[in-house]
Amino acid sequence: MADWKARTEGAKVVKSICPYCAVGCGQSVYVKDEKIVQIEGDPDSPISRGRLCPKGAASLSLVTNPLREYKVKYRRPFGTRWEELPLERAMEMIADRVLETRRDTWESTDGDGHTLNRCYGIAHLGGATLDNEENYLMKKLYTALGVVQVENQARI
Ligand code: SF4
Repeated sequence: MADWKARTEGAKVVKSICPYCAVGCGQSVYVKDEKIVQIEGDPDSPISRGRLCPKGAASLSLVTNPLREYKVKYRRPFGTRWEELPLERAMEMIADRVLETRRDTWESTDGDGHTLNRCYGIAHLGGATLDNEENYLMKKLYTALGVVQVENQARI
C-alpha cells in the first residue's frame, strides 16, 4: 500500500477503458513524468464501479513490462528459432499469402452454375481487444475479399 501511495503521489489521473475484453471496465490511469505508474478501477464507471478482474488489474504490466515484445518474431517453415523481421516485411508477407490463398481457393460458381464468388481458404478470428471501429473495417475488408468465415471470440 505504501508503495502504491508513493508511486501515485502527484500523478495525473486519466480515465480510460480496459483493453482486454468487451466488458469495457473503466480504468483510472495514473501518469507521472509522462509515464504510467499505476492503473486502478475507475469508481465513476457505471459498468464496473471501480472493479477490475485479475486481467484488467494487471494491465499496468501490459505497458510497462520490460519483457514486452516490440519486434515481429517469425519462425519459418521447419525453422528451429525465431527471427526478427521489420514490420513492413512482415506485412508484405501476410499480404502475399492472403492474395495467393484467395487466388488458389476462389470459388466463382457451384457445380450447378450458381454464382458463389467466395473464398473458403481464409478465415478470420478476431480478439476481444478489437474495438467497434476496427471490427467494422475488418468485416468490410474480408467481405470485399469474399471471405465468409469471419468470427470474433468476444461473447459478451
Ligand atoms: S478484462 Fe476484466 S477488467 Fe478488463 S474489461 Fe474485461 S472484465 Fe473488465
